[in-house]
Amino acid sequence: MVTFLSGGTGTPKLLSGADDVFSPAETTVIANTGDDVELGGVLVCPDVDSVLFLGGGVLDRETWWGIDDDTAETHEEIHRLSEQAGFESGPRYLDESEQSSGRTIARWRRFSGISEFMHIGDRDRAIHVMRTSLLDEGSTLTSATEALCDALDVPWRVLPMSDDPVATLIHTKAGTMHFQEFWVANRGEPKIEDVEFRGGSSAVPTDAVFDALECPVVIGPSNPITSIGPMRTLDGFEAALSSTPVVAVSPFVEREVFSGPAAELMAAEGYEPSTAGVAEAYPFADAFVLDDDDGTELERPVVRTDTRLDTEADSERVATAVAEALEVIQ
Ligand code: GDP
Repeated sequence: MVTFLSGGTGTPKLLSGADDVFSPAETTVIANTGDDVELGGVLVCPDVDSVLFLGGGVLDRETWWGIDDDTAETHEEIHRLSEQAGFESGPRYLDESEQSSGRTIARWRRFSGISEFMHIGDRDRAIHVMRTSLLDEGSTLTSATEALCDALDVPWRVLPMSDDPVATLIHTKAGTMHFQEFWVANRGEPKIEDVEFRGGSSAVPTDAVFDALECPVVIGPSNPITSIGPMRTLDGFEAALSSTPVVAVSPFVEREVFSGPAAELMAAEGYEPSTAGVAEAYPFADAFVLDDDDGTELERPVVRTDTRLDTEADSERVATAVAEALEVIQ
């Protein structure tokens, strides 16, 4: 049995061709939920969904989010109506008082659906409606995710990191905003001052997550701040990582990041934006998989390979290196 920790891109890329190395029936994926938002009344869980869509064979691999060949007629109609009615485009974060009322899981990340600022496809939206409806019927996020796994025939067990709300808020020179507002609406441009995981100090991992953390853990290439950071704030999560074998794949080649805002976020949180900084951020990692061109010296075992993950053959190669690293530390 093995457990992967996942954000929205790096670990799904690693999993996409890993079946022959890590049997899907023996694999659990714990997904970050700090990126989730409630938008127009439905809960959108981008990292959970990348894993679900990948496992269900419907992931749009051009973007690494959304459903392949999806239409977006509802999204386009919302935009047309919003524009006709004279509303400005862009995120509309609900009033402070609305942020802590309604569904608990959506606290501090609740946006109006006017001018819908995230691109939600039609089939994609069906997932969010089903998830939200299950929550309204009394399901936990964990059991709603399990139902979606069944519906999409996902071969892994997929667990949200918690059934409690944790909202990743970015404090910037232009004000405080949820990570999706920072990244999707503002393209990561505002200067970051600080990252807050609101709710993190009172949120806990589920029992299913604690069970999964008793297995060896693989941290696929991930943003250490916004994908792994929310997990680390959960009481007991980091302690569980410290007492099980952990292998991490670097999202950098030395100081060069493959994609996304990891470098800026790490720098803002006081880490060197590099493989060395990732190692510092992961004191619980027992071994690393680094790129052949990454000469970073670490005081922990390292397995090197070409860590670019564009094709399924790439994933299989990197997964093989991960398995090798796990053998070294077990
Ligand atoms: P999210 O998409 O914001 O949820 O981000 P993730 O937490 O999944 O992080 C993706 C990380 O993976 C980024 O920091 C990238 O640098 C890294 N990444 C993207 N593509 C590759 C790749 O092909 N190889 C490796 N090693 N890392 C990658």
